[in-house]
Amino acid sequence: MAKIHPEDLKAGRDALMAGRSGAGDLVLVLTNGVGALVWDNNGNEYIDCTSQAWSLNTGYSHPRVVAAATEQIQKLTHVRSCFDTEPQLILSKKLSELAPGIGNSKLKKVTYCLHGSLAVEGAMKLALRNRVGGKNFISLYDAYHGRSFATMAVSWPHPNNKFLPYAGNVVRVPQAYCYRCPFNLKYPGCDLECVKFTEQTIKKAIDGKPIAFLMEPIQGNGGMIDFPKEYYQAIRKLCTKYDILLIWDEIQTAFGRIGEMFAAELYETVPDIIVFGKSIGGGFPLAGTLSRDDLQPFESGEHAFTFGHFPVSMAAALANLKAIEEENLLKRAKNLGQYITTGLDELKQKYELIGDVRGPGLMIGFELVKDRKTKKPACQEVELFIKEGMKRGVIFGGSKYGGLGNVVKIKPPLVITEGEVEKVLKTVKEITEKISNGR
Ligand code: PMP
Repeated sequence: MAKIHPEDLKAGRDALMAGRSGAGDLVLVLTNGVGALVWDNNGNEYIDCTSQAWSLNTGYSHPRVVAAATEQIQKLTHVRSCFDTEPQLILSKKLSELAPGIGNSKLKKVTYCLHGSLAVEGAMKLALRNRVGGKNFISLYDAYHGRSFATMAVSWPHPNNKFLPYAGNVVRVPQAYCYRCPFNLKYPGCDLECVKFTEQTIKKAIDGKPIAFLMEPIQGNGGMIDFPKEYYQAIRKLCTKYDILLIWDEIQTAFGRIGEMFAAELYETVPDIIVFGKSIGGGFPLAGTLSRDDLQPFESGEHAFTFGHFPVSMAAALANLKAIEEENLLKRAKNLGQYITTGLDELKQKYELIGDVRGPGLMIGFELVKDRKTKKPACQEVELFIKEGMKRGVIFGGSKYGGLGNVVKIKPPLVITEGEVEKVLKTVKEITEKISNGR
């Protein structure tokens, strides 16, 4: 690229409309990356614990992904969805083989689009197609499913949501957020009160039969909230009992982040529809659904998009899945994740600031609190944490949306090296000490 003048960059930034999910004054101009490392246009190096919105599980510019995409770009870039291409067919075969479930419950039917929000909408449409007459979706407190009209409606009810007049019907139920139990109980003594409440809601509070129960197996944007394994299985049972379709939004959890290909494997629970996105394309845009073979499929044109069949992303996705498998990245995510959460737990023993540490795999979040007893969220401390991280060359994630805004996230590419993990932990320690001493 020709030399770029700083004033042109400024003019470009002025031209960009606000509303991007933003880092505010921390915004960087990124120029290149490799593995878990990324550089800005001033030559500063960072370890990226956000994997660019948790999308680069195999890291920046994985050589296999780059080679596959480059080869495809030279052959064919855009194809209308009424034609097939080899990457589309081979990727569909691969995904239907990887899909969880057995027999009829195997999720081997695939759809594609380019954005997670649209993929969630696809799952919602498929559910509506299969539960004609249903009016309501059920979703969880603190959920996030996207920024399109339908997905905003099933997400956390933003107090300033100006787009609500266009929203659909949803009933939200409390989730098993055990650190801050909505019923003020303690697991396992609680006997899963949240599931009992959900059953009462289905029986007494919802008009007609719900269309589907939509949930993230681990709530990412809501604050990195995972649930006891028993909760997943109990919700599955409930959905089966009332003939409600269960949709898992695995846009963040699928393809290695939690140490398995799908959360469905980790929690030994098979939903009826899985939504995938983010990391599947190895940095190229791709999303979609996997669903039970015995569900009524869409009719021709019901779920078609101009760029819904992007062979470059599909070729990249195939290479990406191969890298995850052949480079043992599931095991790596499990081991490194365990190592980091153990380190964080040790810090938690020492510093009041860290209230709760959550995994699994490299899907790590920890809550900062004013003190252990009240668990009052320490939100400004999270902002400070992220700024201090940047100064030290580590990009941490923070929960700004919904939830409480007091969670620091460590979700690096699964290819992060042991040395980089050490630096991340050392940085967490330094910043935790600094903030704690300044109180
Ligand atoms: N669902 C979940 C669980 C997500 O994390 C996201 C993105 N943060 C989405 C849906 C929306 O995906 P996209 O931004 O690609 O539309």
